[in-house]
Amino acid sequence: MLQVEKLVAGYGKVEVLHALDFKVEQGQLVTLIGSNGAGKTTTMRALSGMLVPTSGSIRLRDKEIAGLPSHAVAKIGLAHSPEGRRVFASLSVDENLQLGAFARVTGARPKGELQRDFDRVYTLFPRLAERRKQYAGTLSGGEQQMLAMGRALMLNPEILLLDEPSMGLAPRLVEEVFKTIRELRAAGVTMLLVEQFAAAALEVADYAYVMENGHIRHQGPASQLKTDPAVKAAYLGGG
Ligand code: ATP
Repeated sequence: MLQVEKLVAGYGKVEVLHALDFKVEQGQLVTLIGSNGAGKTTTMRALSGMLVPTSGSIRLRDKEIAGLPSHAVAKIGLAHSPEGRRVFASLSVDENLQLGAFARVTGARPKGELQRDFDRVYTLFPRLAERRKQYAGTLSGGEQQMLAMGRALMLNPEILLLDEPSMGLAPRLVEEVFKTIRELRAAGVTMLLVEQFAAAALEVADYAYVMENGHIRHQGPASQLKTDPAVKAAYLGGG
């Protein structure tokens, strides 16, 4: 589904990602974990067209997307729910979702398609369905995070990138966000997840890559990495 080869990217003269190789298969939930500054967010930005890579290849199905602008990448089927909950506070839940759908299409869209995408998102997030007329700014932190994910899903993407969906949330809400991620996975949504909570990410993921200083240091099925002594010592709080 998504294949990244020898991806190099950085800011100005500073190279942050040093020839990364990784992939996400259809229906998989893959997580990128690693310490602060490892380059996880930079990777997400390069994938979604927010940052032009220096070199390397990013293929989504059979299309090369490296260097394409965000709107083109979105149209090909990659949706990015960025770090921080970026919802439009003074618009309703419905209106926020509608904006997500507009990112995909130019021109007329088949009748019923928009409704189908609304139904899908509201089925996945019943909490949002109950609050569809509410201003996004008055939602709880966890609900705003769900809305940010729902808005990305309105693109009906091939793959959803989730960058630190738990950031800044109270523990109870973090649990809810992870529950939602499990539900998305069960619904067959292909995802790439970046998380600070490495242990929680390894619980929900199929496969994981551990980044350090812009390199992939470890990789494997999440269930194996979870018990790998080196990974445990460095990233899962010891032991
Ligand atoms: P964290 O878990 O702390 O969010 P991360 O793994 O997501 O970390 P990045 O945000 O990708 O790491 O940062 C990787 C490196 O790139 C860091 O050294 C950071 O200082 C640098 N960096 C990030 N954004 C910029 C920028 N806009 N300009 C210059 N350097 C940047």
